[in-house]
Amino acid sequence: MKRFVEGESRQQLILFPDQLDDYIAEDNPVRVVDVFVDEMDLLKMGFKVIPADTGRPSYHPATMLKIYIYGYLNRVQSSRRLEHETQRNVELMWLLGRLTPDFKTIADFRKNNTKAIQSVCREFVMICRKLDLFSDAFVAIDGSKFKAVNHRDLNFTRAKLKYRLNLINESIAKYLSQVDSADRQEALVAKVCVERLENKISNLKKEVKRLNKEEILECEQSGIIAFLPKPQTSGNQAKGLFGKRDFIYRHESDTYDCPGGEQVTYRFSREEKGKIIRRYWSSACLSCPIKAQCTTGQYRRISRWEHETVLEVVDARLEQQPDMMKIRKSTVEHPFGTIKYWMGSTHFQMKTLKKVGAEMSLHVLAYNMKRVLKIMGAIPLMKVLTA
Ligand code: SF4
Repeated sequence: MKRFVEGESRQQLILFPDQLDDYIAEDNPVRVVDVFVDEMDLLKMGFKVIPADTGRPSYHPATMLKIYIYGYLNRVQSSRRLEHETQRNVELMWLLGRLTPDFKTIADFRKNNTKAIQSVCREFVMICRKLDLFSDAFVAIDGSKFKAVNHRDLNFTRAKLKYRLNLINESIAKYLSQVDSADRQEALVAKVCVERLENKISNLKKEVKRLNKEEILECEQSGIIAFLPKPQTSGNQAKGLFGKRDFIYRHESDTYDCPGGEQVTYRFSREEKGKIIRRYWSSACLSCPIKAQCTTGQYRRISRWEHETVLEVVDARLEQQPDMMKIRKSTVEHPFGTIKYWMGSTHFQMKTLKKVGAEMSLHVLAYNMKRVLKIMGAIPLMKVLTA
């Protein structure tokens, strides 16, 4: 073992520092967690800070919250692993005053305080705002998919809902064909299932409607300058035919100029997924020499949302400032990527949207805290938190 770095003998007598505090450096992030939780009004956040008069004393919500914030900052999200960490991790021993709640207590706290945990995340965002860390009024929006823990029978896609609804409808038909008192009860049960699934479908439809860009219209109407590429929904371009971009809209006449030099005129409107869609085509299609490049049907039909001008405006704005998409990427994609990396292969520990919301808040809080620690450092941040 000569010429290698050698460890000490396990039998070597050593003098530990007099205080646990000596193990924790002045700028250790665990001190920020401690100060942040201690300075917060937990009652206002929605935690139960008044102990019950009877029964075994419970852990203070501050203790439990510290465990979670520390855990999420250090990529330990599971309650069982957090329990182990409280028993062997010096930083956690310091943070909790050597308290070691069991995993069930740790898990129950996260499960029972979903709203309050979300408020804590919001509180940290408010602190960041006070610190002027959001100096630019630039909001980048993106979507991301996170793996959830859910039984396959309890997660629904539109196709799956449709399939299951058909199955249930078939079952109902079968039940109703056997009209006697015993079967009637089962039919009622199935009917309840259908209603429940129909509700889900209707909620999904509402969500689709909500996502179909009305939000962009609202942005424009309320003076928010949005940058967004116009969605290309037509499949013609993929088939090698002229795309919608090859048709130039003329506001004055409410017509399109087609690649064949003809005028594509308005024909009728109809509602699709809650939106008024205007339909256009040209009578010249029938004798058009370049029809093969344009459509496989009789006429090339163009659909236009009644508020499509808004999409054209935001699209044109983006073309003038193409760097906006790069800024959006660097602003919003980094947090999602980092949070997913920290989450590991299994993203969420809990089930149901409400509980997952609390978990996501803890991840976001940990991400924000790490960013602020990186920007400001632990000691200045603690000074701000205690000011
Ligand atoms: S097929 Fe119709 S829409 Fe297409 S280029 Fe010819 S005339 Fe214009």
